[in-house]
Amino acid sequence: MNLIAIKDYVKIRKEEMKKEIFSLVRKPKLVIIQMNDDVASNSYVKGKLKDAEELGIEAKLIKLDESSSEEQLLTLIDDVNEDETVDGLIVQLPLPKHISEIKVKERINPKKDVDGFHPLSKFKACTPKGIVSYLTYIGFDFTGKNATIIGRSNIVGRPLAKLLLDLSMNVTVLHSKTSIEDRNFYLKRADLAVVAVGKPHLIKKDVPLKKDAIVIDVGISRLDGHLVGDIEPRDDVLLQTPVPGGVGLLTRLSLMENVLEAYQDGISR
Ligand code: NAP
Repeated sequence: MNLIAIKDYVKIRKEEMKKEIFSLVRKPKLVIIQMNDDVASNSYVKGKLKDAEELGIEAKLIKLDESSSEEQLLTLIDDVNEDETVDGLIVQLPLPKHISEIKVKERINPKKDVDGFHPLSKFKACTPKGIVSYLTYIGFDFTGKNATIIGRSNIVGRPLAKLLLDLSMNVTVLHSKTSIEDRNFYLKRADLAVVAVGKPHLIKKDVPLKKDAIVIDVGISRLDGHLVGDIEPRDDVLLQTPVPGGVGLLTRLSLMENVLEAYQDGISR
């Protein structure tokens, strides 16, 4: 295996993408609709705009006042859906309480749903896609190996389980109702452990893991003023992804890959 760090992998992929995008007849275009003034959201949006600019993707941010109605948001989504110059559309979460997240997700044209949230989206959800692409790049052998995923959300745990199952892994998905005893049992057997919970250092460093395990930390929380993951840093496994500077970079990369894919699909339609 080639255990390249995530930041180096992302750098290589971005260089490849820059060249590809430079050779296109027009720039791929992404629209981001944001209906909040959340600090974390603002920082995610800033990151997406920065990535797009770096890669030569045109990105437009449309900010909608939090007091706007659901109808106004849905009409805006319809307009972007119909705009043939737009390849990808994302609606930044969280949404205000009076807006139905399900209605919004289902309104986005699945061909433009680069977040991969629509049930019929043709795109893979960004975080699972990024994790699998990275593991593939470093030469991880999926077939017949044990994956333990902690967290069963619709944006991480569940779609990741499907991707890993499609790669013939033996997949176990755990959640908040799993006992600690069972959690430790399944972690001990894992060739690949993925933790996507959002509880700082939930998995302590004395929890036994295989010495050749690959450990992917998806969680991001604040602890004593610092960003930390769900897993305590440890040095007794083959690879543990850092937080920050780990899975977050993969998620951002996947989003840009999906925008490029949406552009290419649009051209061939
Ligand atoms: P979520 O929707 O809140 O889901 C959390 C999952 O963790 C749920 O399935 C929950 O179980 C489970 N859980 C809660 N407490 C647990 C416990 N004590 N033991 C085992 N499982 C437990 O969260 P999410 O959207 O998947 O995100 C999870 C974390 O990843 C967050 O910190 C988020 O910020 C981060 N994240 C990072 C990226 C990135 O790009 N780096 C992307 C997405 C998410 P139940 O289903 O039983 O409630």
